[in-house]
Amino acid sequence: MAKPKTAKRTTTSKRPATKPDARSAAPKAKKSAPKAQNSRGRAAAGGPSLRIGHGWDLHRLEPIAPAGPGRPLVIGGIKLEEPGFDRGPVARSDGDVLLHAVTDALLGALGMPDIGQLFPDTDERHEGQDSRLFVTAAVERVTRAGYRIVNLDTTVVLQRPKIGPVKERIRMNLAKMLGVGTDRVNIKGKTHERVDAVGESRAVEAHAVVIMERV
Ligand SMILES: [Zn+2]
Repeated sequence: MAKPKTAKRTTTSKRPATKPDARSAAPKAKKSAPKAQNSRGRAAAGGPSLRIGHGWDLHRLEPIAPAGPGRPLVIGGIKLEEPGFDRGPVARSDGDVLLHAVTDALLGALGMPDIGQLFPDTDERHEGQDSRLFVTAAVERVTRAGYRIVNLDTTVVLQRPKIGPVKERIRMNLAKMLGVGTDRVNIKGKTHERVDAVGESRAVEAHAVVIMERV
């Protein structure tokens, strides 16, 4: 019984000693903040040292032509096929849902107009357009703005076919387009548990988050 009492006293006696330590740490944190802002003298002059962007896209899936208006299913520049599955995205371009989400994440991080504003789907010049062009155009804007990509994380939501077998190829494709190593790119595949439009293979969607740093 005596031991707990001793322990309590010891703890209590230490408390006053920790307060000055906590106070002395606060000025240190304040001093480090200006240093980070003035890193290389560029952060303050050309915008924030880090920017984050989010992109989302969805395409309706319809029977592939000539049976319907769907295009072949291409995700991340890779064509997906599965015996018995004959649906593809309806789009002016090739309908690559992942590349569209990535493009919007890049443009969003820069605070620029989205993919639909830069490349309107009403523009006939984009008929069947390879969506890698959109990503490349966005990456050029990132470079021009004085940034480089740190990493990209993405999720593709698709009931079928499974993207697992082609995930590495998609990852390599994206890394090449972004000019970064494959360790900076992540692709996750999810189903929609067979519910709602995506789960019933009537649509496909993709999410992308990118972070970039000032060069
Ligand atoms: Zn799209």
